[in-house]
Amino acid sequence: MKTIGILGGMSWESTVSYYQIINETVKEKLGGLHSAKILLHSVDFAQIEACQQKGEWAYCGEILAKAAVGLEKAGADFLLIATNTMHKVFDQIQSSVNIPVLNIAKVTSEALLADGVQKVALLGTKYTMEQDFYKKILLDDHLQVLVPSAAQRECVNRIIFQELCRGELKAESREEYKRIIKEMADAGAQACILGCTEIGLLIGQQDVELPLYDTTLLHARAAAMLSISDD
Ligand code: GLU
Repeated sequence: MKTIGILGGMSWESTVSYYQIINETVKEKLGGLHSAKILLHSVDFAQIEACQQKGEWAYCGEILAKAAVGLEKAGADFLLIATNTMHKVFDQIQSSVNIPVLNIAKVTSEALLADGVQKVALLGTKYTMEQDFYKKILLDDHLQVLVPSAAQRECVNRIIFQELCRGELKAESREEYKRIIKEMADAGAQACILGCTEIGLLIGQQDVELPLYDTTLLHARAAAMLSISDD
């Protein structure tokens, strides 16, 4: 079994989900007392978030690249960056190590393509919804990407940083997300990417009709499957 290295803590609320989903998947596939081999480097999210706000991406990248090198030295066979937003510095992290980094946007894109989705809504932090680094991977796979209006993006982003990353799950915020997802469906989206690793803590398929692609679930499951595969 391969050892999975996780760059986590962004926020730790969603790193908990990764740990659980990876272990549940390995247990389901291998049975018995099997569990995943995991190395976790969990950062102080306050430091990362402050850098995001100031646009100091290269510095965030240095912090995460250093952590990635540590995980490789400790024996990780491949890595996960357990946040969509910090895929902004994916190349910086990947180029600092000799082991593969499993890209969350690529895993999500492959799941959408396998299901024949062509037009997809994207919810995430303002960085993920507004900048190119994430959408580019979807667009390169010929998916059409819809993002919410400016006011809705502000709302989605505020709920992520002010509530979900602090472990606060509010019914009124779930209603806001439901309304926004409904509008995206009305605008022609055939599915919606939960493109922030905490959104799945607030909302799930039981809450909306539009098919949801939860990046935490997809990324963590893909990692678990890779860890027990022969390639
Ligand atoms: N976990 C979130 C994401 O998937 C947001 C936290 C961050 O800014 O890294 O984008």
